Parts: sequence; C-alpha cells; structure tokens
Amino acid sequence: MTNNRTDASPPRAGGSKISPRKTKIVCTLGPASDSLEMIERLMMAGMNCARLNFSHGTPEEHKDVMNRVRKVSSIHGRSIAIMQDLPGAKIRVGDLKGGAITLRRGEVVSITSSRESAADNEIPIRQKNLIEFVPVGASVFLSDGLIRLKVISKDPGKLKCRCLNGGRLLSGKGVNIPELAHGFKGFTEQDQKFLEFGLEHGVDLVAISFVESAENIRHVKRLIEKTKPDATPWLVSKIERKEAVRNMSEIVAVSDAVMVARGDLGVENPVEDVPIIQKTLISECNRKAVPVITATQMLESMVTNPRPTRAEASDASNAVLDGTDALMLSEETAVGAYPVECVRTLDRVARSSESWIFSNSGRGNGRASNLANDALAGSAVSLSREVAANLLVCPTMSGGLARRISRERPSVPLVALTYSSELGRKLSIVWGATCLDFMENPEIIWGAGRSSSIELLRKTIGSKLISSGLARAGEKVVLARDTFEETRQTGDLLLTMEVQAKA
Ligand code: PGA
Ligand code: MN
Repeated sequence: MTNNRTDASPPRAGGSKISPRKTKIVCTLGPASDSLEMIERLMMAGMNCARLNFSHGTPEEHKDVMNRVRKVSSIHGRSIAIMQDLPGAKIRVGDLKGGAITLRRGEVVSITSSRESAADNEIPIRQKNLIEFVPVGASVFLSDGLIRLKVISKDPGKLKCRCLNGGRLLSGKGVNIPELAHGFKGFTEQDQKFLEFGLEHGVDLVAISFVESAENIRHVKRLIEKTKPDATPWLVSKIERKEAVRNMSEIVAVSDAVMVARGDLGVENPVEDVPIIQKTLISECNRKAVPVITATQMLESMVTNPRPTRAEASDASNAVLDGTDALMLSEETAVGAYPVECVRTLDRVARSSESWIFSNSGRGNGRASNLANDALAGSAVSLSREVAANLLVCPTMSGGLARRISRERPSVPLVALTYSSELGRKLSIVWGATCLDFMENPEIIWGAGRSSSIELLRKTIGSKLISSGLARAGEKVVLARDTFEETRQTGDLLLTMEVQAKA
C-alpha cells in the first residue's frame, strides 16, 4: 500500500457539478423521508436513487412520492433514479391474537394458512398454498431470523412445529423458509399489478425480489414487452435465495443491475456466508459490467443513533472496496430518526475508501468478455491516467460504454453524454458516472469520416461541457466513442482534447 496522497487523489475537474464521490447512494423513502423537504435534503446530501418499497404503502402514495422526487430533481437540475422495489412472494405472519405472541424454546406451535389466528399457540400465514411447499424437517425463521421453528409434522392446512429459538413475535413480521420447494416464490400477480403501475408512471429501475433463476428475469422482460413495449426500465435482480446464489452467474448475465439483498439473504443462507456471497456476487457483476447495489443493515444503528458503529463504517467501506457501485439505505432513511446524517455518513465513508482504491493504482476489474468495447474502455482509462486528464467523456446510446468505463474504476470523473434523460437517470446507480443530457444530432458523434467531423465533435462536446458547468476551458478531456450499434458505420475512437473557450 502506498501512502502517496498526491497520487491517490483523483485529478480535479473544473466542474463543481461533478460529485467527488463515485460510489452511488440509494435511499429508501418512507414516512421519515418522503416529504418534499426531506427529499430535497437527502438529494443535497448525496442521494442518487430513490427506492420505493412496494411492500409498504399504496401505489397511489408511491405515485405522490415519485412526483415529489421528479419535482425536486427538476428544480435543482439533478438526475435522480427512481427504483420501484416489488415485494415478490414475501411470506408474512397474519394477524395474531392480541397483535403479538411470545414463543418459548421447546414449545409446540402450529402454522396455519389463514389471515388470523384462532388459538393462542397458532401462527397464521396469509399465503394460501404455502403449506404444501414446506417439507417436514424444514426450518422456519420468523422475524428476520430471530425466532426459529422446526416442522415436526404436517396435517392438511397445518404445520406442527417445535420452537428452537424463542422470542416475541408481532403480526406482519417476515417469514423465511430456506427449504421451501422450488417455484413457490415466483413473480406474483400482485407484483405484476405493481409493475404495470410502475411502468405507467415511468420508474427507471424495477427491483425483483426472490429471484431464483435467469428465467424469472426473462419472464418479467416478456411481460413488459407485452404490456408496455416502449418501456425499458432496468431490471434489478435481488439476490436473496439459495437458488439465486447457486445461479448467480446466469442471473447476472440477464440482469441490468443486481442487489445484494443481505436481509433475506442472511436468513435463507448461513449468516457467516453473507460476506463471501457479497464478494463473489460483486466480483461477478464487475466482470460483466453490471451495476451492483449492496443493501440492508448498512447503518442499522443509525435508525436511532446519530452516529454509526465502527463496524458499520467498516462494512460500508468494505462494500466499496469489494467493488460495489452503490450502497443502499433501508429503514435508516425510510423510518429512521437521522436520514440525512445517514447519507452524509455513507458519503464520507465512500470517499475515504475510494481514495484508497486510487492509491492502489486503479484496481481495474477483471472482464468477463474481451470485446472491442471492453478494450476501448480499458484503453480510455489508461490514457486518461497517462495524460492526467481532468475528465473522461463518452457519448452513449445504451449506457454500455459508460458501464464498461466505470467497471475499470477510473479516478478521473466520467461524464456520460446521454440521448435520453431516462438513460441518464438509470446511470445514477453506476459507479463514478455523471450524466449529461446531450440532445445533439448523433451524426456529430457518429457521422462518417468527413474531414471536418473530428473538429465539429471537439467543438460541440467542449462547449456543451463548459455550458453545463462540467468543465472549464483549458481542461484536458479523454473522449471515447464506440462503434454506432445501429449503423456500424464508424469505428472506435479515442481522442485527447483540450476544452476550448467559446470563440
Ligand atoms: P427487502 O429486500 O428489504 O425488500 O426485503 C432487501 C433485503 O432482503 O435485504
Ligand atoms: Mn428481501
């Protein structure tokens, strides 16, 4: 490890609009944070993506929150992605008699398929056909894994269980059954309704819970194609089931982004495996240039405290060093007492950890493929380092080149010139990417080699960077352009240019 801070600090770009932090922050909005004022404060503190958790609240309420996010983001001219998180077949305890029961070790209780309990030692579960999917001998975890039962026998509509770890159980708490037969937790009818609602209101990303295989994602893609073919949200696979861990490689390959959903992951899998699953999954995503979000219990103690524990600061830092694109806050911002402080904390921890990545000379992730645009992205990043560029710039139609450059973890800020604000918002979760709406004629970038075209390209990009406040005259920019997918007319281009003051 070197301690040379001059090497460690990325070059400063003139534009103050570029965040000095590369790691992105996703905030779950909820009662503690979904007012106009709080959304604005979270954005100022560094929120890049707002997560709407459809496990709670009504679609109409979420729609109002979405409108507030859009409003705040347009007032300040900052791009914020909206992520709709679909609950999936999350199993929950129904209404307990008196709202809660206390379970004691050794005691025998029964789980029934009903909305509410009829007896004291009965735990109702809302899902109708769940019981047939649970084998005798299976473990049943309640309340985030705090309470553990073992199924000792099975009657029609009823599971008899012995309590191995007791505790107090409240109505509505989550239930995890790792040995649940394959296929129970697919995409539900309710998910489909929520999805249609989300597409209707233009969410940028859709997170899918309890994914088991690549087929689950393909299924959702087909649904979108059928119901709203012009919608192209990024699909975020939440990795939380054992099957998903087993099938991680094929799931990452078909996903637009991935979430390490450590909450359910750590109940459905041995908790000691969570750190290694996180590392393996992040590295698989990095190899494929698929953005990855690390989620859950990030700053858990800050739900009630203004400062994080040292262990939490270390955890957030380690996620950054593992290579995560984004860090996610859940209860911390949704219902916690210190939402803004949480974002500030992640901001500081991420920045401190990033400087360590750069001091280790840009870690550069391994690549899953070696296509021309992988090589182009790698070359752009080494060129930017060699010439001490202030900015890396890439025009991008689909976001592919921006993801690939980001994957190389450049210390130089990356500006993606996008042709739709929607793509710009999606890139909000991609490490180090700042997006700039670039609604110029694509011919300027990809036009076939007229002798003046490079000159035009320099001028157009230079003045756009200056007028948007992302660069100053005299700054050095490395520009990477890949082959235009649609026409395949022009080839890859790598160019060092100086930003010129307007003539
Ligand atoms: P959830 O997902 O909060 O929607 O359950 C995240 C997780 O399981 O970690
Ligand atoms: Mn979950």
